[in-house]
Amino acid sequence: MGEKTSGRRFVSLKLKWAIGTAVGSLLIFLIVAMAMFSSFTQRLFDEERGLLNQGMVTISRQLGQINQPLTKHNVQAALVQHVTGAAQYQRPIIQDLSDGHMVVRIYNQQRQPVLSTGHHLVPVALTNHRRIRLVKGPNHKVIVGQMPVYARHNHRLIGYLQVENRLNAYYRNYRQLRLVMILALCLVVLASGILGYLLSMLFLRPLNDVHDTVKVISKDPTKDVRVPVPNHNDEMTELATMFNEMLDQTQRYIKQQSQFVNDVSHELRTPIAIIQGHLDMLQRWGKDDPKVLNDSINASLVETERMKNLVQEMLDLSRAEQVDINFRNQKTVVNDVVHQVYNNFKELYPDFVFILDDDLDEPIMANIYRDHLEQVLVILCDNAVKYSTDRKEVHLSLSRGMNTVEIGIQDFGVGIPPEDIDRVFDRFYRVDKARSRKKGGNGLGLSIAKRLVEGYHGSITLESSVGAGSIFRIILPIVGDPEAIN
Ligand code: ADP
Repeated sequence: MGEKTSGRRFVSLKLKWAIGTAVGSLLIFLIVAMAMFSSFTQRLFDEERGLLNQGMVTISRQLGQINQPLTKHNVQAALVQHVTGAAQYQRPIIQDLSDGHMVVRIYNQQRQPVLSTGHHLVPVALTNHRRIRLVKGPNHKVIVGQMPVYARHNHRLIGYLQVENRLNAYYRNYRQLRLVMILALCLVVLASGILGYLLSMLFLRPLNDVHDTVKVISKDPTKDVRVPVPNHNDEMTELATMFNEMLDQTQRYIKQQSQFVNDVSHELRTPIAIIQGHLDMLQRWGKDDPKVLNDSINASLVETERMKNLVQEMLDLSRAEQVDINFRNQKTVVNDVVHQVYNNFKELYPDFVFILDDDLDEPIMANIYRDHLEQVLVILCDNAVKYSTDRKEVHLSLSRGMNTVEIGIQDFGVGIPPEDIDRVFDRFYRVDKARSRKKGGNGLGLSIAKRLVEGYHGSITLESSVGAGSIFRIILPIVGDPEAIN
């Protein structure tokens, strides 16, 4: 399956499917990961900010106890050496904060530094308001907090405090998390791509079978290959079944076509041979013999008439196959047509007895084109007359079913043997070929009648007994209100 069609590059469905699933899972993962990542890092950041705030509060409280302007000495005593006494096991606050990557700087009232636990990176303006801000550092952002320090007992300003959290732990976690996310993302995309590819390979396997079958059939349309129908019941099973049915139908159609051509050429061969025979005879010695000349011309005329009828019937047959498309909305009052055909036949064959048994008490309308109904009735009545023997009687009947109207045509003639009952509706089929030919039959009448009736969603049935006669029944669905057609 690697051909180019319509100038476009062939891109396998499997590849498209794999790319689709990979992109889909990439998007979903990105959305979920981003949400998780941002909430997680926000929490980390809030924690760091909380730490800084807590540190500032603790130190300022400690410094407030000094109760006089801050100097290097008293600050050191208050903060760094605060290890003895009741808080024996407590480490100095400054050291604790430095361990936690915070830098503390303390200023006196004149804003001059008196103590610093590290090298300050970010200079900030010292004000009398407590402020915590996120500011730009040399490598990344840092949180800086600054506040005035007041003496505890008289609330006088004794100095300033600045604490800087360099966010080292935060950025370390941030980078780690980002790496994990990127790795997980790659894994998800790769895994979903591979999974998509494998799944599509599995699902599309029946398409390969269809492809192979089409390839074989396109080389030889009569080949008896079919797509293997998958066991599981899904769309592919439906496709394979439908495809096989389509192949069956197409091959049946091809067979019918070639059978039709065979049948037609076979049917034409006899009249052509007869005409040719007569012409040969005339050419050799018949021209001067008026009797031979007359006989030959008459015989040839009979055969040409037969060929003309044959051609007309073949045309009718092919048209009968399309009534469903061309005459779908035609409606006819059945009673009228049956009465008309009955009267015509009575006049045409005065030596026959025609009986019409009409059970209908109102006009009944069927969905059939008037000329077609007439054609069917003429074919059946013609046959009834043609195949009658001693008892020259034809019974017509007209009755109503639930939603159908039924027309019966019965004769008391030769009848049809049981084995031929189904076959008489086939093209060119004749029970007794010689007899039918003698009566001008081509074996197409019943197949035209059947196709016409079935084209209008009706049916035609036959009961017959050899020597006793036959009865044909046409059943047509009833439609609408007969008053509406005029
Ligand atoms: P044909 O033109 O030969 O009559 P049809 O298709 O009308 O062709 O009929 C096919 C064959 O069915 C006939 O050749 C004949 O053998 C048989 N058949 C049709 N109608 C009757 C009938 N009413 N009685 C006996 N045989 C019939």
